[in-house]
Amino acid sequence: MTSSWRRYALHEENRDRVCVLCNKPHRATSTLAKGLFCSECRTPYLDHEDKRVRQAVGRAQRRGLPASLTILEWLRIIGHFNSQCAYCSASFQVIEHITSINNSGGTTRYNCVPGCLSCNRLKDHPLPGCYPISLEKIEQVKQELQRIFS
Ligand SMILES: [Zn+2]
Ligand SMILES: [Zn+2]
Repeated sequence: MTSSWRRYALHEENRDRVCVLCNKPHRATSTLAKGLFCSECRTPYLDHEDKRVRQAVGRAQRRGLPASLTILEWLRIIGHFNSQCAYCSASFQVIEHITSINNSGGTTRYNCVPGCLSCNRLKDHPLPGCYPISLEKIEQVKQELQRIFS
């Protein structure tokens, strides 16, 4: 057995993954691929949400903030809010940090909800003549998140 063969064999092993949705073992396309979903579960929608989560986690990590949100937690949160903005019920467009990253809010399951772009902007930068999101509404959304994961 040559060392290069052994290296190859190790790499082959490193492609084994367990699907985060159905728990079935499957092979990732490469040793570097995260391969979160098996071929039966994987959809463009899931890939899109996974990318969104990883970007938001990366943003928090670069600021040294808590960055623990997982794709499974995010799917549960979106499901709870019916894929609608947590504040105004428009269809959601972005991961909205209840306490923004600029205000040291992390990317965690207790700080992230689906949001539309205007609520996302309005919350931290209320415009004159526009209704800012009320503190009561924000508090209510926070409590809903606590309930999902309690
Ligand atoms: Zn699966
Ligand atoms: Zn909204």
